[in-house]
Amino acid sequence: MSFAELGLMPELLRALHAVGYTTPTPIQREAIPLVLSGRDLLAAAQTGTGKTAGFTLPLLQRLATTPVLHPSNKHRIRALVLTPTRELAAQVEDSVKQYGQDLKLSSMVIFGGVNINPQRDRLQRKLDILVATPGRLLDHVGQGSIDLGGVEILVLDEADRMLDMGFIRDIKRILALLPTQRQNLLFSATFAPEIKTFAHNLLDNPAKVEVAPQVTTAERVEQRIYPVDRDAKKALLQKLIIDGNWQQVLVFTRTKHGANRLAEGLDSDGIPAMAIHGNKSQAARERALSQFKAGKLRVLVATDIAARGIDIDALPHVVNYELPNVPEDYVHRIGRTGRAGAGGEAVSLVCVDEHKLLADIERTIRQKLERVIVPGFEPDPNARPEPLRKPQGARPPRRDMPARGSAPARSGEGRPSGSGRTSSGYASEGRAGANANRSPNRGEANGNRSSDNRGNTAAPRAQPSPGGTRPQPSTGGPRRRPSGNGNV
Ligand code: AMP
Repeated sequence: MSFAELGLMPELLRALHAVGYTTPTPIQREAIPLVLSGRDLLAAAQTGTGKTAGFTLPLLQRLATTPVLHPSNKHRIRALVLTPTRELAAQVEDSVKQYGQDLKLSSMVIFGGVNINPQRDRLQRKLDILVATPGRLLDHVGQGSIDLGGVEILVLDEADRMLDMGFIRDIKRILALLPTQRQNLLFSATFAPEIKTFAHNLLDNPAKVEVAPQVTTAERVEQRIYPVDRDAKKALLQKLIIDGNWQQVLVFTRTKHGANRLAEGLDSDGIPAMAIHGNKSQAARERALSQFKAGKLRVLVATDIAARGIDIDALPHVVNYELPNVPEDYVHRIGRTGRAGAGGEAVSLVCVDEHKLLADIERTIRQKLERVIVPGFEPDPNARPEPLRKPQGARPPRRDMPARGSAPARSGEGRPSGSGRTSSGYASEGRAGANANRSPNRGEANGNRSSDNRGNTAAPRAQPSPGGTRPQPSTGGPRRRPSGNGNV
């Protein structure tokens, strides 16, 4: 099937040709006709499936081909895309610009951590599509610099992450500002119960689309475990990089501190490396990422949240220097390699402390991973497991933390470090224990009170879900919604 057969207009087909996409991915095949029909959509699709184009392309076409739905709001925003992180917001808006290059639609991205004034100035002019993180969007609402009364299409991208990161109250406040008559698209990595409840309240008779997570689609990702002693991991990583002549390696650690230490260690040993995580400024993260993409930086060391939303095509090597606390993050991590049809290799350095994490991962992906022992790095059979490192400087979990999905105090997502508006100053990045899903932090959308412990314990679907729901007949456009749409 081609993009033309999905009903996309020539301007979009030209843009797709320019970026070199020839065949729609499964999520694009399913979602594009549904969104073009005007229906609400609930889509389970992870990063790496092509979901961004899955909603961006039909969104652009609907705006380009349908008259303004709320005519009195002629100069207001017609489409609003909410994302959990700055990086993802920037990437989505890049896609909007790229695919919409031949259309007369304007777009803008807003997120925290940067000066608000230029954003406010730009918001005074005509704007069709706004991509935003929730906190900074509400800052503009508070300043009266934004009018959401003309929104015809709302997209919640990575909605599961937004809930995990505690954005629920912000999202409710934003929903209450939107007109009731609009089209809603909700993308999430899973259909976890919280997402279903959220979607039930938000969406109007939605079509449902579900595509296999990356772990089942990326058959060409070779996965391997290297059992190794805790203290020999860095030396083994260096050996793998050098012996394998790996030139572009994404390495995951559990903690920001661990990411810094490893990057510094590799760098001082002559392997150019940088770390990205929530304590780094937006500029530093972007610098590291662009050097890595340009091939000037051999190793990028990242924590899970920092890595989420990074758009790098077909990374050849992903290394789990430390296994993640939640199996789903393993799936996300290895989804960074073998994308868009290219092969890739995902290796994990596993010490005795991580055997339980490994067992959880293998149970989740329903796969026993190959073990390879590197001569000279044989793990000590008598080594005793130690508790995984505690978060640096973190307070013990509080008993009064709000449950997942309930609303923490809004803490100014995306503000630069030192803005003094953190909700807790509680920068935990260590193990995700039973309390992780009660963290009041909202992760790295805010550079200074992030938590890499996310409570998302929902396991990914380990089997492909064939087909998903079939498209239903078009209803011709957005319908009048039941009242109380802000009530999610
Ligand atoms: P996403 O899941 O939206 O983050 O997209 C994952 C990656 O796949 C991005 O780098 C896209 O540029 C790429 N991509 C999206 N759609 C296609 C397609 N139809 N053909 C090839 N690559 C694609």
